[in-house]
Amino acid sequence: MAAHTLTPVHHPLHSLTQTFKSKTFKPQTVKCRSATTTITSNLRAAVIGGGPAGSSAAEALATGGIETYIFERSPQAAKPCGGAIPLCMLDEFSIPSHLIDRKVTQMKIISPSNLTVDFGKTLRPNEFISMVRREVLDNFLRLRAEERGATLIKALVTNIELPLSEKSPYIIHYISNNTQNTLAVDVIIGADGANSKVAKSIKAGDYTCAIAFQERIKLPEDKMKYYENLAEMYVGDDASPDFYGWVFPKCDHVAVGTGTVCSKQNIKQFQGAIRNRVKSKIEGGKIIKVEAHPIPEHPRPIRVRGRVALVGDAAGYVTKCSGEGIYFAAKSGRMCGEGIVRASENGRKMIGEGDLRREYLRKWDDEYFCTFKFLDVLQKVFYGSNAGREALVELCGKEYVQRMTFDSYLYKRLAKRNPLEDAKMAVDTIGSLIRSGVVGREVMDAAGF
Ligand SMILES: Cc1cc2nc3c(=O)[nH]c(=O)nc-3n(C[C@H](O)[C@H](O)[C@H](O)COP(=O)(O)OP(=O)(O)OC[C@H]3O[C@@H](n4cnc5c(N)ncnc54)[C@H](O)[C@@H]3O)c2cc1C
Repeated sequence: MAAHTLTPVHHPLHSLTQTFKSKTFKPQTVKCRSATTTITSNLRAAVIGGGPAGSSAAEALATGGIETYIFERSPQAAKPCGGAIPLCMLDEFSIPSHLIDRKVTQMKIISPSNLTVDFGKTLRPNEFISMVRREVLDNFLRLRAEERGATLIKALVTNIELPLSEKSPYIIHYISNNTQNTLAVDVIIGADGANSKVAKSIKAGDYTCAIAFQERIKLPEDKMKYYENLAEMYVGDDASPDFYGWVFPKCDHVAVGTGTVCSKQNIKQFQGAIRNRVKSKIEGGKIIKVEAHPIPEHPRPIRVRGRVALVGDAAGYVTKCSGEGIYFAAKSGRMCGEGIVRASENGRKMIGEGDLRREYLRKWDDEYFCTFKFLDVLQKVFYGSNAGREALVELCGKEYVQRMTFDSYLYKRLAKRNPLEDAKMAVDTIGSLIRSGVVGREVMDAAGF
């Protein structure tokens, strides 16, 4: 086994300097703060990235008694994000209601020809879309991971040395307080977002990204009142050739943004167009922040290699059509963390690639592969042209479509289906596509409709 030099490790939480040997796998007693018992853990895990994916992973690992380090380069920063999260996330991740800025109960979708459909009319009285500020949500989740026993290291990870043998450690190089440090660990979860350093280190391959651009605009009181519980989605070639533009309400301002995959160089022009379409509603508003960030379009070619697993945006878990990624980040982080706890028997056993594949990747794909694929197809049909978008908005007017859409978005489960309504929806969809000229009559005739 290769011997690494003893390395001082900066420990910001407790302001102490520890010394870690490279992989000697010396048993260490780890206090699991959420449980009443103290277990003996061998496994050392590092989570790179302290967003929803990383914090949820670290929380699961530490709760399972694993010696856990979570690296975050800028804990005070706010990730550029719309901040919309589904109802089920509040329960599943015990998000307290005081973190929610706005409870959106109205949702408008506006077509290229300005046909407007009120998309929220089937919401039940206790249903809403939560709008959070990412700096608030991320801080809360990170703090909870620390409370469970994870050690937060405020540092930029600069490099990861791969192990020399099956059981030797990964060496993480990081900069904290202008000082270079290293840490030896057995397992790594890469939760470091779309530009993932961890993914590069394990040669996980590239994915296509959209670029999303967003302006935070503080509105005069009367204008803000209009957006109090209302979110808007704008579709059209002007606002984006392959995505949608949005206005999301925040605590004291709105987030106005758009995204594109195929025409990134024109993102500012699309942002100008969306601002133009909402002009009268945001008149007198002041731009307080401008932000942009990539959004992955597909899962990475490789999501597990060796004892490293990717989660959240680093893995590419953002759905097409909606650009939703917060819930999937938290869910994949938790799933991966829990998988490691199971496979390592609460940190008592070394794990390998096969364990990560079985306990995390396979479970994730079983649960979400079809959802991601389905939304991929929908995006191609409905966001590809103005005609497709008109058809989409027309369909969104149907109560059954709204109910099915909200049930699957809010609860992340397949809604209870009604065969008769399903058949009607299929006919409506085809009718809308034909009327909009997306699908030719002759194609439908040939298909027997
Ligand atoms: C403009 C925009 C709007 C969006 N709107 C929504 C929305 O309304 N709803 C929704 O569900 N999703 C939305 N998304 C997607 C959502 O933001 C992401 O899917 C989600 O943030 C993914 O979480 P994550 O934890 O995987 O990654 P991130 O949130 O990107 O977190 C990664 C963390 O890793 C840290 N990090 C990175 N590299 C290093 C390093 N080398 N060392 C140490 N730390 C590092 C970063 O500082 C960051 O905190 C939006 C995205 C954009 C760009």
